[in-house]
Amino acid sequence: MDLQMNFEGIDAYHSGTQRARVLTESWVSRNLYCPRCGNAKIVHFQNNRPVADFYCEKCNNEYELKSKNGSLGEKVNDGAYETMIARITSNENPDFLFMGYQKQLMTVKDLVIVPKHFFVPSMIEKRRPLSPNARRAGWVGCNILLQSIPKQGFIKIIENGNLIEKEKVLSQVSKSSNLVVTNIEARGWLFDILECVNRIPMQEFSLDDMYRFEAMLAAKHPQNHNVKPKIRQQLQYLRDKGFLEFTQRGKYKKIL
Ligand SMILES: [Zn+2]
Repeated sequence: MDLQMNFEGIDAYHSGTQRARVLTESWVSRNLYCPRCGNAKIVHFQNNRPVADFYCEKCNNEYELKSKNGSLGEKVNDGAYETMIARITSNENPDFLFMGYQKQLMTVKDLVIVPKHFFVPSMIEKRRPLSPNARRAGWVGCNILLQSIPKQGFIKIIENGNLIEKEKVLSQVSKSSNLVVTNIEARGWLFDILECVNRIPMQEFSLDDMYRFEAMLAAKHPQNHNVKPKIRQQLQYLRDKGFLEFTQRGKYKKIL
């Protein structure tokens, strides 16, 4: 994989946004393997499709690319807020590729895949409506909050200019498929609990360590009045899916 972007044909484009899109998309077409099945290339859709930018000819998985100049940071701009929420709740999202590139050096700095089943509405931030004087007055865009994605679904392909081993990426993507939950409410719970587990610094922890998050979880899910049983249920689910182990001392152990 060559981290350098290619200038070829770029002179035909004048706006900064268009040039960035062409550079990053052509880089992906030339360099990126399919993070789902390992196929050597993914292919750009011929016409501008509303939902995805790339697909894999072998496994048919679809990808959308979001790129920005510099580091990925905390959030990435996306399109209309309502559309994004509708896509998440109806499970119509493709996998997302988030790319940070260095404009001066014309190189790719960071590249991450977030599998489609990791998206939940609380990860999407509503932006302020465009002003009445704007061409699309009242239009409401959104930001994707990258930091609220659990690390199990934020899988690095390139980190700070360094390639992560392809085998490692494929195995992480494959393991993340154990966490597919179609129901959006249940999915929200699962990833909130997973995020709490991730926040505990120790490898081994107790139920009490998890109960410390009770108030935070209750605030996030006001309709649920049985947060403790919910925590235990989700921990059991994570154990069944191979992310946790129950030890003999009544503790939980993270499986790396
Ligand atoms: Zn594939």
